[in-house]
Amino acid sequence: MKDTTRRIFINRTLAGACAVLASPVIAQAAPSHVDEADETALALGYKHDTNKVDKQRFANHSTAQRCANCSFFQGSATDEWGGCAMFGRKHIAAAGWCSAWAKKPG
Ligand code: SF4
Repeated sequence: MKDTTRRIFINRTLAGACAVLASPVIAQAAPSHVDEADETALALGYKHDTNKVDKQRFANHSTAQRCANCSFFQGSATDEWGGCAMFGRKHIAAAGWCSAWAKKPG
């Protein structure tokens, strides 16, 4: 192999390796959503939609209370789903609610 050919080969190999490393080789799976029928969800009365909360069971609930304005919501203001300390790695709906709701400061 001539010196020039070797240099081209090495440059192309390095460029290819860099392209592979820079691309998202392994796509991360999005966290799954909490199932309203999960044991924890049932215990906390969690619903994906705050308007569907059991009013008999949670008399103090208000539809103004939503996961998005709860201090435990880990998503951003524009996220439809996000993490919550109550549900481990599964995501809850920003429009949802559970009985652990606590007003977000501010
Ligand atoms: Fe939603 Fe807050 Fe209950 Fe988590 S603790 S599910 S953010 S209301």
